Amino acid sequence: MSPRAVFRYVPHSIRHAPEGGVVYEAFCMTIGCEAASGPHHEQEAAQDWALRHTGRTGHPLFRRVVTDHARVTQEQ
Ligand SMILES: [Zn+2]
Repeated sequence: MSPRAVFRYVPHSIRHAPEGGVVYEAFCMTIGCEAASGPHHEQEAAQDWALRHTGRTGHPLFRRVVTDHARVTQEQ
């Protein structure tokens, strides 16, 4: 009999974790431009960055990313 790990199935669930906050970012989609807002905790900060970037460069299209956090817990 060879030694082997025994894994017991334990049910888990995953839920939105508001304590982790939400992160907003904008990425310029103009070809050749790698500009990005960086992560911000306020949506307005990422939007203001995009408005300023368009004002400076004329680049009009952005990919917006909103990231939340999730927590995995073992079900009782
Ligand atoms: Zn750009």
